[in-house]
Amino acid sequence: MSLTKCQECNNTVSSHAESCPKCAYPIVDKRSTKAHGGTGEQPKRREIVNIFLSLVFTAVTFLIILALIYLDEYYDMIDFFINLILNFKE
Ligand SMILES: [Zn+2]
Repeated sequence: MSLTKCQECNNTVSSHAESCPKCAYPIVDKRSTKAHGGTGEQPKRREIVNIFLSLVFTAVTFLIILALIYLDEYYDMIDFFINLILNFKE
């Protein structure tokens, strides 16, 4: 059990208490505040880039599938598309 100080009356209160027994001021546990996401934290750029890349990859895959379905009857165009990808990779 850890002790914390009441921000209002400076009384020593258990950190597990929801409010100060003396003045009823709500006790905010710093750890639980962080768990809620917190404010002022720097955005994790790498995480955002990873999410962005996965979204782009999903979108591109989805568009290719849609294109293949749409162009189902146009085999020449599909062949052209496949050749384009194969040539691009080389
Ligand atoms: Zn208090």
